[in-house]
Amino acid sequence: MAETFDISLDSLAGRSVAPQNVASSNSSAPSHRNGSTFFLETFGCQMNDHDSEKVAGVLLARGYRQVESPGAASLVLYNTCSIREKAAQKVFSRLGEYRTKQAAGQIIGVLGCVAQQEGQEIFERAPWVSLVCGSASYRKLPDLLSQLEAGNQRVTGLDTDTDETFETPVTRRDNPWRAYLTIIEGCDKACAYCVVPYTRGPERSRASDSVLKEVRELANLGYSEVQLLGQTVNSYADPSKRKMRFSDLLLAVADVPGIRRVRFTTSHPRDFGADIVAALEAQPKLCNHVHLPVQSGSTRVLRAMTRTYTRDEYFEKVAMLRGAKREIAITTDIIVGFPGETEADFAETLSLLEKVRYDALFSFKYSPRPNTPSLSMPDAISEEEKSRRLAILQETQRKIQSQRNATLVGNTFEILVSGKSRRENQWSGHTACHRVVNFASQQRELLGTYVQVRVTGAGPNSLVGEQVT
Ligand code: SAM
Ligand code: SF4
Repeated sequence: MAETFDISLDSLAGRSVAPQNVASSNSSAPSHRNGSTFFLETFGCQMNDHDSEKVAGVLLARGYRQVESPGAASLVLYNTCSIREKAAQKVFSRLGEYRTKQAAGQIIGVLGCVAQQEGQEIFERAPWVSLVCGSASYRKLPDLLSQLEAGNQRVTGLDTDTDETFETPVTRRDNPWRAYLTIIEGCDKACAYCVVPYTRGPERSRASDSVLKEVRELANLGYSEVQLLGQTVNSYADPSKRKMRFSDLLLAVADVPGIRRVRFTTSHPRDFGADIVAALEAQPKLCNHVHLPVQSGSTRVLRAMTRTYTRDEYFEKVAMLRGAKREIAITTDIIVGFPGETEADFAETLSLLEKVRYDALFSFKYSPRPNTPSLSMPDAISEEEKSRRLAILQETQRKIQSQRNATLVGNTFEILVSGKSRRENQWSGHTACHRVVNFASQQRELLGTYVQVRVTGAGPNSLVGEQVT
């Protein structure tokens, strides 16, 4: 994993879904299929995390109970990511563990991008798997589960040709303060390196009234922060008669009583317009942070990647954000070592970093992926060279972040407190601009509350401070 910093856009690393608000099992053996316990581990991005929350909701609604270890589950599910090769390999190594360990009657299922990409071949590689379901087919999960419960040994949902979105009446949410909501699924952008259009299918947006209804429900449940999700969230196209623009939807979500912070990710530069900046300026509940992946600083490489914008066009979007009436944090993703990336192209990426001065960066070595146009491009860059460029990129960004964060010392921020340290009186949380702040407070309980914190120190990845009363 090659992120340079931990002002995290959360969870690019794989982790299991912690079963909050769900009773855990004491039993060491799996119960019978209809005794129904499940274990769900998630790999990949926030969208996968949130898909898992919805999958857990579907299972809970069918009477399944979530448990914390695969050994205690009658149904073991892996929600997978195939964006880079390493992520996909991880899943097969997990499945390998079942070759000898699978308990009698235990069902193993593979969901998500690897399921979509490998399809039926998963049954060949791991014959102990019974369910293979891609993310574009989650709507069919209840049906697929019925087939498994009826004793069917091989069940698949692999259609990507869909205009449906995955909406379920029950979603089991992991984060008690920030609720995630997918507003657009799939992707139509076809970047040359990316598996998403193949694994998640075409772009489908949820109707604005359905999104707003869910936000009202979340506010009633006590959530004050919501994050709207989509691979290209700002390409949102309301399928209902209201035809709300993405920026109008942002404003409408912020208007829901009880909602105090609205975030959104990921924005595609091509569809990032002045109306979004105007919404951010007008409504302080919209968090002043935009994740705007650039991928490369070289127009030549951007063209090869089919990113649909040039270096200069990207700078125009940044200038719009930098010119806003409120300061807006900008973060990005960069891929190093795309086929044919020359030393001069890479130098342009470094100069872009110096020019934009991002608040945070996620950086990746190019990973060739099946079904993608870049797979057959000439002039592959060696692993050694990719690693060298990645290290230089990360060091450049580390210095920029240290400098930017140092300018914040003395400022006071509102923090939503989400973590409590084992050390006495130490807490942590995020600013609206999505920086992590670790701070001291004598108060006994702060989790889930908003507090004012004055910054007293800064590192490249986080700030430290003290609560202001
Ligand atoms: N939709 C988002 C966008 O257009 O920026 C990105 C979604 S993708 C899940 C997250 C990031 O993974 C991308 O921004 C890109 O930097 C990285 N990524 C995608 N495919 C990759 C590949 N084949 N090799 C390395 N990094 C990749
Ligand atoms: Fe992948 Fe490009 Fe779509 Fe992002 S916009 S999900 S990088 S194809």
